[in-house]
Amino acid sequence: MGINEPPTNSLIIIAENSEQVATDIQKCLNDNKFSSVQIVQSVAEIYQTLRLFYNAKEQLGLIIINEALAGTQLSDMCAALSSLDEGVLIPFVVLSNDEIYSIKQLKEQNPRSLIHSLPIPVNYPELLSVVKLQLGMKEERLLRHEQKQRLINELSERKLLDAKLQYLVIHDELTGVFNRSNFEKKLRSIFEKGKIYQQDSALLFIDMDRFSIINEIEGFDAGDSLLVEIVNTVRTLLDKNDLFARIGSDEFGLFIENKPLEEVRSLAAAIKNKLEALDFVLEKDSYSISASIGIFLLRDADESWHPSNMIAKAKQACNMAKEHGRNLVWVYNKKDTKVQERNNDLHWIPIIKHALIENRFFLVFQPVVDLLDGSVSHYEVLLRMRGEDKKIIYPGDFIPVSERMGLIHGIDRWVVVNAINTLAGLQDKPNISFAINLSSVAFQDDSLLPLLKQQLEKTQLAAERIIFEITETAAIENFEQTRQLIEDIRALGCKFALDDFGAGFCSFNYLKSFPVDYVKIDGQFIQNLLTDDIDQVLVKSMAEIGKNLGKKTIAEFVETPEVVVKLKELGIGLGQGYLFGKPEVNLLADDAISLSQLIESSG
Ligand code: C2E
Ligand code: CA
Ligand code: CA
Repeated sequence: MGINEPPTNSLIIIAENSEQVATDIQKCLNDNKFSSVQIVQSVAEIYQTLRLFYNAKEQLGLIIINEALAGTQLSDMCAALSSLDEGVLIPFVVLSNDEIYSIKQLKEQNPRSLIHSLPIPVNYPELLSVVKLQLGMKEERLLRHEQKQRLINELSERKLLDAKLQYLVIHDELTGVFNRSNFEKKLRSIFEKGKIYQQDSALLFIDMDRFSIINEIEGFDAGDSLLVEIVNTVRTLLDKNDLFARIGSDEFGLFIENKPLEEVRSLAAAIKNKLEALDFVLEKDSYSISASIGIFLLRDADESWHPSNMIAKAKQACNMAKEHGRNLVWVYNKKDTKVQERNNDLHWIPIIKHALIENRFFLVFQPVVDLLDGSVSHYEVLLRMRGEDKKIIYPGDFIPVSERMGLIHGIDRWVVVNAINTLAGLQDKPNISFAINLSSVAFQDDSLLPLLKQQLEKTQLAAERIIFEITETAAIENFEQTRQLIEDIRALGCKFALDDFGAGFCSFNYLKSFPVDYVKIDGQFIQNLLTDDIDQVLVKSMAEIGKNLGKKTIAEFVETPEVVVKLKELGIGLGQGYLFGKPEVNLLADDAISLSQLIESSG
């Protein structure tokens, strides 16, 4: 074991009744660079001296003591000075007239102490080396003690951090109640225990009315403290078994197990009333707040439902409460929401039908660009509808309704026919390809494949110039049928892309079983890419997985040059977004975009 060179400036106390011996030792030490040496004549004097260093224990070196002077006090002193706090201990060199003086017992009583004995008359070179050894060992112990302390601190800090992280994952940071994902998890584990559907259990959705006003007028801090007050208020009315969670910015979920509807209803009313009575006082103003509460009874649920389905139902009931004037409790009723949805759908059916008949659909095209050289890989074909008032209607408004109402197949077919006709007509762009979106239920349409075949034959268009896009969620929901459709269409020579990748599923495993050529990473991972570390990690792993499986990766929603730089760094090959071009009726004039110019001009 290597002992460090001992420090020579720490205090050495010599407790020796022979003045001659004491000064000889002192001189020997001074001659060997030990500068701070003090002679004392009694044990009491030792303690006096030590007391002066009470706040500077690290400056204490060691004690050379004559066994005769110490007498019976030696053992006590040894015990006291071997266990000073902060790892400081003081070694002893015991000088003994008795040649056979044994420090064995002393050591046994104080196993942590550093004690060495030397016979009198003192052999100075030996004394010197013992002093050095003891001081070195003392230093070593101190160092080890500090290291251990550091480690302990670090560990406890990390543990604290871990615990805090875990708490944050489970709880809402602001209010200390469960967050949405844990609320759902908890519900799922309750439901798994079974029988819940036969009991009277209820899920409440509590939405604060006009909370956003306070947030906007008074700022987020005020909004935050209001939320904390709301949580505390609601809590006073709850049993310890009730599950309470914050599931949106100003939305709360409450699960009540095994209580009849009337009790649930009166609890909801009590919550509503107590929140209404809560006066939220700020410096200048006081606000009265209120809540709308929707109740969903679990006996109305289907056993296959996920907790999020039930939360959605409670929310629908809450919306009904809002529609009926807010500050109300509303119990979910199937008829209510059916009426809502149906009214909406019924409104759209004639509009969509007329648009198809009157040919008021049209296509726009958005470039997908190779991030290495800026060349256009292909264009995505996006659908637009012109309303009777000539305003453009976007697919988000009419595609979901069309899927629900069975109008989508007609739309899919219209897009396939018209996209292929358009592409075949672009004789000056023989190398351009189109990506066509298919609806999530395209596999149900038996006439789609023959139509596509016929259209390719008629136009003599090379099949590989057509890519079809299907969303990941649609593909997974109808895994087998969709896979069959993909295989059939690829057999014709067309290519395939998995759209909105990452939006619906957290596993990349099934990607292996889908015969697709492109993976389009959902725009939500790209929008905050520069600031969100987690998105970066996810996008990077998507790029790696795509690469390993031989698929090209496309990032959607590329809006800035900085994102392009980041995407290249993460290994993404292709990009699409407003930076390169919005969806337009006309294709780009050039087949390449000057990436370097885009990136340079951003500074
Ligand atoms: P999608 O296939 O994921 O299409 C991308 C959407 O993102 C398009 O909206 C596009 O305009 C928009 N977008 C493109 N670049 C950016 C960007 O940089 N930033 C932002 N914020 N958005 C960008 P759009 O055209 O409204 O289409 C919405 C969805 O409607 C499409 O999502 C697709 O699922 C569906 N859809 C569009 N056309 C068709 C179609 O012909 N047939 C079928 N079945 N569905 C279609
Ligand atoms: Ca798409
Ligand atoms: Ca997409």
